[in-house]
Amino acid sequence: MITMQNITILGATGTIGESTLDVVARHPDRFRVVALTASTQLEKLVAQCRRFQPRHAVVLDEVSAIRLRRLLAQEGLATEVLFGIDDLAHVASLPEVDTVMAAIVGSAGLRPAMAAAYAGKRILLANKETLVMAGSLFMQAVARGGAELLPIDSEHNAIFQALPREFNGDLAASGVRRILLTASGGPFRTTPLEDLPFVTPEQACAHPNWVMGKKISVDSATMMNKGLEVIEARWLFNAQPDQIEVLIHPQSVVHSMVDYLDGSVIAQLGNPDMRTPIAYALGFPERIESGVSALDLIGRALTFEAPDYERFPCLKLAYDALAQGGMLPAALNAANEEAVAAYLAGAIGYSRIAAAIEYALSRTLSGEPGELDDLIEADAQARRDARAFLAKRAA
Ligand code: NDP
Ligand code: MG
Repeated sequence: MITMQNITILGATGTIGESTLDVVARHPDRFRVVALTASTQLEKLVAQCRRFQPRHAVVLDEVSAIRLRRLLAQEGLATEVLFGIDDLAHVASLPEVDTVMAAIVGSAGLRPAMAAAYAGKRILLANKETLVMAGSLFMQAVARGGAELLPIDSEHNAIFQALPREFNGDLAASGVRRILLTASGGPFRTTPLEDLPFVTPEQACAHPNWVMGKKISVDSATMMNKGLEVIEARWLFNAQPDQIEVLIHPQSVVHSMVDYLDGSVIAQLGNPDMRTPIAYALGFPERIESGVSALDLIGRALTFEAPDYERFPCLKLAYDALAQGGMLPAALNAANEEAVAAYLAGAIGYSRIAAAIEYALSRTLSGEPGELDDLIEADAQARRDARAFLAKRAA
């Protein structure tokens, strides 16, 4: 028998949010949308409300809420409009909600994801920044709240699929030697190193295989995305940094692999379309239709290469931040967000991204975070440091 899941989609207007709604729409007998949230794209949110009739829609501020209420009223829609960070957390923890898709981009996604964890929801986690910033505290919240965590990031979803179903956080007990995290290498994998300082945001956002939001597209070009994913894997699978290896695989067909002690390597393959991991997590433990076409392997070569830290210094910075632990991963993430925003705004050159992060990390205090506020403070300080560095040397 199919049971109906009530779902909140945080970041519904983003690329992950839209892919989630695409899968949800294919299964009206399985999913009911209770709440949708957005930041700037109000028209898109209205269209989603028209189609999915959620009980709540959440935006960031009162001005947007007033506008959204007017737009919904014009269409005779009964969706209740809420706003602000507390209401994002509220719709992530409503008693009638079973499943929360956490697909807000950046550190703004942390608080609502925490709320879902404490409320014991099934969390479909796309917002990797939650684990990068606050991995230890978030995993504690998941355990305390009795939440169920399913990774959406395609690599981690692949690893989740390749691990034994009964995996309980002990890689050694499951016979795992290493996790092999694949990366496409992004649009600048073969760009001459001397040309890298001059690459434009448009070039950085033109990803060869995946369609993604702008911020994660730039992260993919610098391979900071993979760095964040190494940290994400550390928490999701309780892995030590030296158990996580990054492999460049330009075709983006193998989404990641698990290497076992007996020499077996189990991989998950598929077309690069986020609806596959989303459908896997939505349907778990069942498999459901996602709209993704069957993978055609005939005539395709699958290749793998080692990443080059000179080309991708952000990947090295992420490994270093993970090894040092404490507040460093949060600072790494925050400085990266600032630098990428400045780059997307045309204010700085591409090579300044890594330089700004390195500077911010060098100024971050060591020590373990006792509570979320410590991390929020480390995040704020790293942003100030990155901005100050970039204001001085924009070239
Ligand atoms: P998008 O930029 O496409 O969408 C982000 C969503 O978050 C939008 O709904 C946006 O609203 C909303 N949002 C933006 N800023 C805020 C804020 N300050 N407070 C509340 N909501 C906000 O991102 P993606 O969908 O690409 O990515 C979402 C998350 O999933 C990221 O953490 C990313 O790293 C992760 N991810 C994405 C993958 C992908 O293929 N796209 C793959 C793996 C992980 P609006 O659009 O209305 O402004
Ligand atoms: Mg990924």
